[in-house]
Amino acid sequence: MEEKRDIKSLTKEELTAYIKECGYPAYRGGQLYDWMHRRLAERFDQMNNLPGKLREELEETCTLRTLTLATSLSSADGQTVKYLFRLEDGHMIESVWMKYHHGVSVCISSQVGCRMGCRFCASTLGGKVRDLTASEMLDQVYRIQQISGERVSHVVVMGTGEPLDNYDNLLKFIRLLTAEEGLHISQRNITVSTCGLLEQMDRLATEGLQITLALSLHASEDEERRRLMPIAKQYQIKELLRACDRYLEKTGRRISFEYSLIAGENDSPESAERLSKLLAGKNCHVNLIPVNPIKERNYRHSAAAQIMNFKNILENNRINVTIRREMGADINAACGQLRRDYIHQANSQSAGEENKRGNYSS
Ligand code: SAH
Repeated sequence: MEEKRDIKSLTKEELTAYIKECGYPAYRGGQLYDWMHRRLAERFDQMNNLPGKLREELEETCTLRTLTLATSLSSADGQTVKYLFRLEDGHMIESVWMKYHHGVSVCISSQVGCRMGCRFCASTLGGKVRDLTASEMLDQVYRIQQISGERVSHVVVMGTGEPLDNYDNLLKFIRLLTAEEGLHISQRNITVSTCGLLEQMDRLATEGLQITLALSLHASEDEERRRLMPIAKQYQIKELLRACDRYLEKTGRRISFEYSLIAGENDSPESAERLSKLLAGKNCHVNLIPVNPIKERNYRHSAAAQIMNFKNILENNRINVTIRREMGADINAACGQLRRDYIHQANSQSAGEENKRGNYSS
């Protein structure tokens, strides 16, 4: 059987061209776009202003719904919901819905698994399986908005995967998500988090976007970073910080630095002082994340006093810093943990799911 066409990843222009190719007038492309990206239709037969014949043709040749909900977990306070979705090819991905006072934020995955190998992260344990398409990223937002019934105002690409390792699909996703004819989420409300792929950071700076770039720093010197993140063998902190300066210069957007605090690894007062020196005078923001321990590794959460002390040192050095609010502590399985548990339960010999080619983890 021929593979179905992924029409939800097409821009409005591409979609219109496709519809014309199928022998229909251009405005049908606009209607179809509206159904998919604004009304978030899940079936072609809902599209009641399109001719029946076109709906049937689309049904046969195109994919509309890329995700099926497998399970969801709500926190007791109702502020956080984790969703596990099944993709068309059977792989599983996680997304998270979070309610804040300023709106609703959805955290999406950009890949099935990840090949970056960060030591403390559950998403990377089985390596990368594949990239997500733009439509699979969009559908995480669309489905969650449909299910929750509340408008999504913010999107963070901080779930499983390294978004800049799936650059072209990520860019399509951002353009479709922010398009006026779609959900029209403000670019300023989109954050893309990277472990620091330098060339792609530079490329992102030239795209004319107003999104926030977050760099997962997690260390105050190269040796400390190399112990936690294999990618640190490729790029030095000072090179990454220069790329961040270039990003700010080109886009006017200040950088967010993520720093997961791990007991005995990167949480000492000396690390805080070194970090303060690295970031002195920069227009930036530091997000401290108490590490979420994963059972496969021996990392521990820093003590509360240690976390406060780390924060105070940064503040005394006039660095903007917040401690990431721990949302839904009762369902706070570390990123990627829900998916791993599910896969392990569903298939104890999950060899097919996990493909280690091209991974950085060793
Ligand atoms: N690949 C992207 C997105 C990863 S997830 C990146 O590296 O930035 C978003 C953030 O959560 C990253 O900063 C990541 O390093 C961090 N993270 C992953 N697992 C974690 C854990 N168990 N505890 C705390 N932070 C974690």
